[in-house]
Amino acid sequence: MTHLCVTCGTQYPPGDHPPQHCPICEDERQYVGLEGQQWVLLEKLQKTHRNTSFQEGDGVWGIQTVPDFGIGQRALLLQAGQGNILWDCVSLINSDTVSLIKALGGISAIAISHPHYYTSMVEWSRAFGSVPIYLHEDDREWVQRPDPCIKFWRGETYALEQGLTLIRVGGHFPGFQVLHSAASEQGQGALFTGDQPQVCPDRRYVSFMYSYPNFIPLDAASVRRIVAALEPFPFARLYGAWRNFVVQGNAKDALRHSAERYLKAFDTSSEPRRKFGS
Ligand SMILES: [Zn+2]
Ligand SMILES: [Zn+2]
Repeated sequence: MTHLCVTCGTQYPPGDHPPQHCPICEDERQYVGLEGQQWVLLEKLQKTHRNTSFQEGDGVWGIQTVPDFGIGQRALLLQAGQGNILWDCVSLINSDTVSLIKALGGISAIAISHPHYYTSMVEWSRAFGSVPIYLHEDDREWVQRPDPCIKFWRGETYALEQGLTLIRVGGHFPGFQVLHSAASEQGQGALFTGDQPQVCPDRRYVSFMYSYPNFIPLDAASVRRIVAALEPFPFARLYGAWRNFVVQGNAKDALRHSAERYLKAFDTSSEPRRKFGS
């Protein structure tokens, strides 16, 4: 039996009783729901929910749980010639999902942007022969179910096979990573970002938050660091965390314009100094 946090979808190690707390939800970037901390068994979720798949781009397939569960993100399967990669993850894994993924070519690795989407990653890895899960070392403390299949990497970039690169951008989490695929979009490149930069609903802009549910913006220096970390990588397309949240038009230009727009909102040079509570 394994317990999942209902609010964030994180899976905990097998046990007869649920944990006392979900550190992911008690952190200021998430929240404990109105009903207090709630848990559900994976075995129960397998009875009440299912996963759907849909194509989101050239060789890119979305996998989403219906009805919505946890934060509501979708995972992406990137078809990459000799070995597909699962980007980000969802809590539900069942035999139908394994068949579906195998029909799309299986997966040979998993990489996850940040702790909000770790969900049932170890369960997913095991379902496909204990494939490696690549996470950044700086977010190790947030892993709730440690396992030998998790490979922590250090530094700023990590080259996987087939022109795929993990890039640590920091910000929302210290070890926040994005995935760059050089071969996607006929060689113009694609970027997979999860929560950061997050694609705006108009799909022409992206944005940056320290906490999305608690409306805490990301500081300007971190935004500049993200843009600088991505500067060396060409990409025409950018995939966010939600179904069909993919930037329309040239994604790299959209990132630059979005960062300029965002930083303008922080420009207080023409404002008198304000004090609250006096
Ligand atoms: Zn949680
Ligand atoms: Zn997040």
